[in-house]
Amino acid sequence: MTKKQFKAESKRLLEMMINSIYTQKEIFLRELISNASDAIDKMYYKALTDETITFDKDGYYIKVVADKEKRSLTITDTGIGMTKEDLETNLGTIAKSGSLAFKTENELKDGHDIIGQFGVGFYSAFMVADEVTVTSKAVSTDEAFKWKSDGADGYTIEPAEKESYGTEIVLKVKENTEEENYDEYLDDYRLKAIIKKYSDFIRYPIKMELTERKLKEGSDNEGEESKEVQTINSMVPIWRKNKNELTLEDYENFYKEKHYGFDKPLKHIHISVDGAVRYNAILYIPENIPFDFYTKEYEKGLELYSNGVLIMNKCADLLPDHFSFVKGMVDSEDLSLNISREILQHDRQLKLIAKNIKSKIKSQLLNLLKDEREKYEQFYQSFGRQLKYGVYTDFGSNKEALQDLLMFYSSTEKKMVTLDEYVSRMADDQKYIYYASGESNERIEKLPQMELVSDKGFEVLYFTEDIDEFAIKMVATYKEKEFKSVSSGDLGLDEDQESKVESEENDHKELFAAMKKVLEDKVKNVRVSKRLKTHPVCLATDGEVTIEMEKILQAMPD
Ligand code: ADP
Ligand code: MG
Repeated sequence: MTKKQFKAESKRLLEMMINSIYTQKEIFLRELISNASDAIDKMYYKALTDETITFDKDGYYIKVVADKEKRSLTITDTGIGMTKEDLETNLGTIAKSGSLAFKTENELKDGHDIIGQFGVGFYSAFMVADEVTVTSKAVSTDEAFKWKSDGADGYTIEPAEKESYGTEIVLKVKENTEEENYDEYLDDYRLKAIIKKYSDFIRYPIKMELTERKLKEGSDNEGEESKEVQTINSMVPIWRKNKNELTLEDYENFYKEKHYGFDKPLKHIHISVDGAVRYNAILYIPENIPFDFYTKEYEKGLELYSNGVLIMNKCADLLPDHFSFVKGMVDSEDLSLNISREILQHDRQLKLIAKNIKSKIKSQLLNLLKDEREKYEQFYQSFGRQLKYGVYTDFGSNKEALQDLLMFYSSTEKKMVTLDEYVSRMADDQKYIYYASGESNERIEKLPQMELVSDKGFEVLYFTEDIDEFAIKMVATYKEKEFKSVSSGDLGLDEDQESKVESEENDHKELFAAMKKVLEDKVKNVRVSKRLKTHPVCLATDGEVTIEMEKILQAMPD
């Protein structure tokens, strides 16, 4: 039996594909520019092996020109170009990637910069254009050809005139509809913004002719308009530069340019990893709390680049919740992207990167704590709560990772201290790490329960945030020392008081019974306390849950 080929309604297939794989129309420009960049890269590789071609870096660029009257948008490159056959196979066959073939033929392994691989990006042009015309002349040929299609009824190819090699793509931009604005793709400043957003780190210059208004000398409103060719993209990504070539200002400028925040970063972390997983990252700890940080609206995440091309604005999987305040970007060559290049296919690589990033952030925070205490305390003031939240919510590995980053106010030091510092100061006869919960340091200082522990000369940590006690319950022990609330029944101070307590309780049996009757269901019991010194009375709990925790639990919605 002869096997038959599937038939496909290619017109419908194309439409379906284009409109279902891309979430945003503006992506078409990223795709066309990526193709242009690939075409120039191929020139570069060819020049490496072909002596008749010299790669003169200045001759290679990508140009974007919009014409509002003609409703045309033209993207030109000085890359390798396409022969008639190339046009036929690469643009005439959906899901045929000349770039992927090029990589295989030339045995280019990972680490090169060619972006294309799926053979669909080009067709994204039809999201914004009624008609696309590609005029191309391949290097080392004399003829040029013109490929033309309205995206629906197939395409035509005919001979054309073109002086130099390379490719020119002209989009006839769609008319506005009620739902959709297409005029924006003819607006120079909008186009510039799209280029900046997705293609800022394409390695060849992307040029535009922009209208500049220059003021006449001596006048503050009379001006002259002139067109000026500008290179829009920064080209060399800062994260690929050597760390010692970069100044603090470079990092601060990048933070501003990328709109990571309106503040200055408190600290930057530049990571270049070249091992089992390869990536570059520039991360920042902001100086101020983002205005929406402690709200539901806040979205954590890092920008994700694949080979210098922006893939995702906020990749949440790259950051654990307890480091959700970190801003920045990651670039990797090793990501397996899905066909729209917007999301990732499987996330093994991403998971490895995320794990690596997590431990880098942690060690950098520990360094900050060690070397720049003041800055760390500033950081902790803003984001300490997030760390404690991390300890509380994920008792797997977070606890271990984060407990050294915790700080609390100390009764004896009168400043923020770490658990490590506390434990190193503990007296020989001190069994527990003591803490006291309350609304503020002042309130805690006045707690009757504080007296006994303080009188022994023991340090007490002040817990003033809701989360503190819950987090510490998760930590449970630090360097084998248990935590103990000053309000708990057994403080582990003097054991020999037991008999005294008993006799006192017997002596005043009736008084206690009377008190209990008056207080009725407000308290469970009235007892002699071995914890009081100058105060006549205090409240105590006998379970694991302290009064402060109970208050919080009761305030929570069911
Ligand atoms: P991909 O880039 O994933 O390969 P595209 O649909 O974007 O898929 O492009 C299909 C193919 O068309 C490319 O692989 C390349 O061979 C060819 N091509 C597209 N644009 C250009 C260009 N500007 N110059 C040279 N070849 C191009
Ligand atoms: Mg492409």
